[in-house]
Amino acid sequence: MSELTDIKSLEYERLQDFVVNVLGEKSFRVGQIFSWLHQKKAASFDDMTNLSKDLREKLKSQAALTTLAIEDLQTSKIDGTKKYLFRLPDGNFIESVLMTYKAGTSVCVSTQVGCAMGCSFCASTIGGKVRSLTTAEILEQVYAIERDTGERVSHCVLMGIGEPLDNYDNVVSFIRLISDPRGQDMSERNITLSTSGLVPKIYALADEGLAITLALSLHAPDQGKREAIMPVAKTYEIHDCIAACKYYFEKTGRRVSFEYALIADVNDRDEDAAELTELLRGFPCHVNLIPVNPVTETGYKRPPREACVAFQKKLEKNGINVTIRRELGRDIDGSCGQLRRKKLKGTD
Ligand code: SAH
Repeated sequence: MSELTDIKSLEYERLQDFVVNVLGEKSFRVGQIFSWLHQKKAASFDDMTNLSKDLREKLKSQAALTTLAIEDLQTSKIDGTKKYLFRLPDGNFIESVLMTYKAGTSVCVSTQVGCAMGCSFCASTIGGKVRSLTTAEILEQVYAIERDTGERVSHCVLMGIGEPLDNYDNVVSFIRLISDPRGQDMSERNITLSTSGLVPKIYALADEGLAITLALSLHAPDQGKREAIMPVAKTYEIHDCIAACKYYFEKTGRRVSFEYALIADVNDRDEDAAELTELLRGFPCHVNLIPVNPVTETGYKRPPREACVAFQKKLEKNGINVTIRRELGRDIDGSCGQLRRKKLKGTD
């Protein structure tokens, strides 16, 4: 038997091709099926009640409908943030986080099972990369959470487990699908993609014509320090990353965010703030300081609150637009990757 088509991963035109040319159906069916998949978030073909029984059977025999199972769910008593551990169809685990803000609700999605980048402070990379997620598996994190809470998700950050630009095609399809007005219709402006700095892929993304926000995980003010904590920096140097971000801004008009995890005695000194100022001088951007989340395996510590504020003030004084990230879900395994780690350790 031929392989089933992963129907939720298909962008509109490809779905059209599948429904009309492979299934031999009339083209008005395309809109109906797309709406069941991406607007009504159907969990099975049998839910698609305005399709004939014959067509539903045909779909079942030729297409697969990816859904994710909630393996574990933790809700923060402090701020209501919800952390989901999902089981994928092949038994792997990923995490997603639902955060509620005044402006709406945001889901932090994973893009891979594990990660190949090897950043020394990050829980997601311990154990390496298992595989990339399909487009449907990335979408389903948002859809499954909507089914669970009954609330519409308005924002999305690609900041969960994995390196989004190491799964480029599926991630770009995900962005096109979730922002499709015939489906979820999420504004591209409400989507942020974070990368550890895969330079050629940043240039490619800039040329896609998407109005999403790019975030670069900088974490150090110079090449030597960055290399020491982010192995990927050996391949793509800091100045090449900044040049790619400038190109992104020129092409899209979207301000780039720089993420900077503050780690005590590693990158939090006065000289670091001064060097960072030099690096970003004249570039309209935003710096997001993240007091590092302690991960059992890394041994890194966050600087005291006053030191973080002092670092922020130093940058501000130099005209840099900078905030300290508000921490959500502190009581439920802080940063991404930790819930999956626990699960894996427990089942080892
Ligand atoms: N691979 C992408 C997407 C991950 S986004 C990237 O590197 O950008 C998650 C963000 O959280 C990244 O900026 C990552 O560097 C940061 N991060 C990872 N572990 C962290 C920790 N323990 N404390 C604070 N930030 C962390």
